[in-house]
Amino acid sequence: MQLTVKLRLLDKHASELNRQARAVNAVWNYCNDAQKHAFNTRWAWRDKWLSAVALMRLTAGAGNELDLHAHTVQGVCKQYTISRKQQKKRWLRFRGRKSLGWVPFNTGHVSFDGKAFTFRGIRYEPMHLRDLLKPGIKIGAGSFNQDARGRWYINCPVEVETADRAPNTRVGIDLGLESVIALSDGTKIAAPRLFRASEAKLANLQRARKTPKRIRRIHAKIANRRKDWQHKVTAKIAKEYGLIVVGDVSPSKIAKSRFAKSVLDAGWAGLKGMFSYKSIRNGGGTIEANEAWTSQTTSCCGVLPNGRPRGIRGLGIREIVCDCGNVLDRDVNAARNILRVGLDTLVEGARHV
Ligand SMILES: [Zn+2]
Repeated sequence: MQLTVKLRLLDKHASELNRQARAVNAVWNYCNDAQKHAFNTRWAWRDKWLSAVALMRLTAGAGNELDLHAHTVQGVCKQYTISRKQQKKRWLRFRGRKSLGWVPFNTGHVSFDGKAFTFRGIRYEPMHLRDLLKPGIKIGAGSFNQDARGRWYINCPVEVETADRAPNTRVGIDLGLESVIALSDGTKIAAPRLFRASEAKLANLQRARKTPKRIRRIHAKIANRRKDWQHKVTAKIAKEYGLIVVGDVSPSKIAKSRFAKSVLDAGWAGLKGMFSYKSIRNGGGTIEANEAWTSQTTSCCGVLPNGRPRGIRGLGIREIVCDCGNVLDRDVNAARNILRVGLDTLVEGARHV
């Protein structure tokens, strides 16, 4: 599916874009003059209408002189002939100071690295990012555009995966300790190592009651990384599933964690909120289910087997063996139970989060 993205760029890029826009205007006005000349001397020319190809031939090399991308020059030529035909005119208006800045670019010449767009070796940072913009995403032919207030935007088509989820798909989610999210479909998603490491560092610092300044610094650093990761994960899940059931994360579970309660609370609250609004945006919903017993009951037979994880010692057990002989991943098993509990409570009216 192709979507057109429009993002406002930081104002610091205005001078370079203004410069390119002036050069674009020069090319446009040159095309206009050439077209005028062709029309006025049509008895000497084979054609009174200059095609885009003819204009490109006339402007070849202009890119070097004007410090523009060769395809920007060609883009101007193409747009000139398109506009002239659309407006059914012999030639068009001169582009000058009053014209809003415009710098076209061609497919594949702008890249995106997750933070900024790069065009001709120059990075252009947007003011906001969009979930659908993944690093390395394919960017088609588009343009930089200026609005009446002089602010610059990038307009470009991007190829995004189609959200063709079945409306009845549902998933249970175990928001595990230590940044592991387990899904009832068997998927386990672990947070990137980097921020898990800093989170552990933070937990240690907090326990050691180190200086607030140092803690704040690490806090800010990992908060960004964590949020970024959470946005990606929740967006993907919300796109895939119509109904999301999350556990209510019991206080006893938090007590067993090696992290400070505040760290966990913030993380879980953030995740739940993201699941909630992202699923609504995708036409789905998120509900909360009572997590009690979900980590100890087997999801296949619904029994409490003898080898079940129990108490603080139980947290070290990654697998749970059912009486029927099934060996289940502890977190995925919990996610399946959360889904089941969620679907049961749905009948009675579950709490939407
Ligand atoms: Zn079983």
